Amino acid sequence: MTFANLNDVLIPAKKEKYAIGQFNINGYDWIEAILLAAEIEKAPVIIAASDRLVDFLGGFNNITQSVATFKQMLNITVPVVLHLDHGQSVERCIEAIDAGFSSVMIDGSHSPIETNIAMTKKVVDYAHSKGVSVEAEVGTVGGNEDGLVSGIQYASFDECLSLVNQTGVDALAAALGSVHGKYVGKPILGFEEMKALSESCNIPLVLHGASGIPQKDLDKTITFGHAKININTEINQVWFKSISEHLAQNPDSHEPKVVIEPTKTAMINAVRQKIVSFGSKNKAL
Ligand code: 13P
Repeated sequence: MTFANLNDVLIPAKKEKYAIGQFNINGYDWIEAILLAAEIEKAPVIIAASDRLVDFLGGFNNITQSVATFKQMLNITVPVVLHLDHGQSVERCIEAIDAGFSSVMIDGSHSPIETNIAMTKKVVDYAHSKGVSVEAEVGTVGGNEDGLVSGIQYASFDECLSLVNQTGVDALAAALGSVHGKYVGKPILGFEEMKALSESCNIPLVLHGASGIPQKDLDKTITFGHAKININTEINQVWFKSISEHLAQNPDSHEPKVVIEPTKTAMINAVRQKIVSFGSKNKAL
């Protein structure tokens, strides 16, 4: 298979206490920037397409082929996971798997736990028969979570354990205070809850909404079992800053390449910094 799955990269990460970055794509320049940054840092990496953006990005097949083509064209040697972020239904996860994604997240967190477990189990059964890994979510990450705006709802410890034990899922996003998008005020994370959960369930935990979380808190989340850290907003902010600065300095700019080229360099640098801060630099060696 062209792509690694979550188990290939998260199991060693959890054991050695570092985290692999998941970076979301919002266009094709993101793919190139993420792959190049990971290769420079010799780090395994997770490229994610959020379900709500899949059609905007040209559909599942287009995304798979594009990531595979960039990977080959850029001579990328580090393990790359192609992951569906916040899969909205069992059917969407199956579509992604059939198109060649090596990992999917089924997000049943907005349904009652019994429904969440049933949805997750269906996806796990199908995915595992194809060598594809699965992430599930319990509780609610605050902010705008793929179109659904919600407050923070901490994951229940018992519900997390039931879901993990009944589904055989590979990684768990347990919402414990993080927020998608910009934080209003200081992030307050449930470190005690993380510690208890990580000690009781063997699988790697996933931190959603990691943009804006201070380094010392990120370090703690890694200590408490998070082996996958999701970043979207911070890379997009870097992209916006680069475009805004260029247009402010060159109001008559009319060549897209000249505007876009610096955004790639800015995104590469931002992804590299995150990889270093998660401790995954040189972990592909
Ligand atoms: P941020 O947008 O806060 O970085 O969150 C990313 C994320 O969790 C994607 O699932």
